[in-house]
Amino acid sequence: MSVLSKEYFHNEEAAFEKLESIIWPNGAVCPHCGGTDRIYKMTANAEKRIRVGLHKCGECRKQFTVKVGTVFESSHVKLHLWFQAVYLMTSSKKGISSHQLHRTLGVTYKTAWFMSHRIREAMTTMGMEPMGGEGETVEVDETFIGRVKGAPKKRAYHHKMKVLTLVDRRGEARSVVIKNLQPKTIMPILKANIAKETRIMTDEAGQYFHLSKDFAEHHFVRHGQGEYVRKGGVHTNTIEGFFSIFKRGMKGVYQHCGEQHLHRYLAEFDFRYNNRMVLGVNDSQRADHALRGIVGKRLTYTGTDSIKI
Ligand SMILES: [Zn+2]
Repeated sequence: MSVLSKEYFHNEEAAFEKLESIIWPNGAVCPHCGGTDRIYKMTANAEKRIRVGLHKCGECRKQFTVKVGTVFESSHVKLHLWFQAVYLMTSSKKGISSHQLHRTLGVTYKTAWFMSHRIREAMTTMGMEPMGGEGETVEVDETFIGRVKGAPKKRAYHHKMKVLTLVDRRGEARSVVIKNLQPKTIMPILKANIAKETRIMTDEAGQYFHLSKDFAEHHFVRHGQGEYVRKGGVHTNTIEGFFSIFKRGMKGVYQHCGEQHLHRYLAEFDFRYNNRMVLGVNDSQRADHALRGIVGKRLTYTGTDSIKI
């Protein structure tokens, strides 16, 4: 049976029930007063203007749905369409363009664009533990993509957008947009995200020269001299694998990405990588995991990147 034939992809009531089971695993919680005891579900009725999924709290007498306080809150798009969008975005290895989403879901391009950015926001992982640890290895590398708006085209990477990625060899990736490759830009990110007991692997680039001061070990390969693997597991091949999926996706699916949105695309690629099949996460579990991320992340476009990724 097709995964997409599930009720919650087509039926609004079923979609609300599915989201409620994900967001409220222990029963409904009132977003206004935190009450849990005297909440009752109202029966949807178009004539009385009672929306699907509406609940009422007996403590504070206020009404709410499970969408309050989530990235879906102010959206008029039907929840079952959101479910289709989340599934498509989380199950396609390289992502899905807003154009494709617009054609597949039958919403306008503008709506599809907003939906995909909100779903990316849901995929952002926050407040994570440091990566690595004693006896563990984290690879660090940077890549360049597209072009910074207004920057004159120069040689090498200066006019391109810069991405720093950290990959824990046990499976997790974290990526962040950086303005430049200076140690004073990179070091605070590494210190905030990697435990100091960790072995770090990089290439020979100058910004990584002094890493052994802050971490247990630092090894590097000399890519400039054609050296890719050294004895003792010294290489950055894991991160190269991550960059290759990221670049194919960005070139093939998301051709035009401004620097102000790049961090959200990175969150999307990190999320799929961190919830991939070889780590035991199937497509449905991955979609559910993204849905769990919708809480407390109403999308604003005023936020700036924080150091902690
Ligand atoms: Zn209440």
